[in-house]
Amino acid sequence: MATIFSRIIAGEIPCHKIAENEEFFAFLDINPVAVGHTLVVPKQEVDYIFDIDDDALGRMMAFAKRVAHAQKAAIPCKRIGLTVIGLEVPHAHIHLIPMTKESDIYFGKGKLNPSQEELSEVAEKIRKGYK
Ligand code: 5GP
Repeated sequence: MATIFSRIIAGEIPCHKIAENEEFFAFLDINPVAVGHTLVVPKQEVDYIFDIDDDALGRMMAFAKRVAHAQKAAIPCKRIGLTVIGLEVPHAHIHLIPMTKESDIYFGKGKLNPSQEELSEVAEKIRKGYK
């Protein structure tokens, strides 16, 4: 059965898309830990990120870098932090999280619950900076 992220990539489940290329897809996390929290996902279904082959993993990071620059331009923050968890959705993904302090990237503190309108506004701002 397709993962929830494959269904998002296929357009069966709505998302707030940031960018895509032939291999990768970026969209806002529905329950962000910080405003602008974005997920970068390979279109090919792989559960564990470190099962991705070296070249594809490099390309995934290069794609994430472009997304991170767009986030940094759109969201007031010091840096974009990067983390990999993967305990909830068995489809490899990188979390890109705007942060000003360490706790901004801490998942244990609980998540935000933005409205669709808020997510839509944030996504629009980030998309504008994606090159
Ligand atoms: P992880 O697998 O890294 O532990 O967490 C998966 C992440 O995916 C969580 O931060 C969660 O909020 C996000 N997520 C789960 N289901 C959906 C969904 O249907 N849409 C979006 N946009 N994000 C999701």
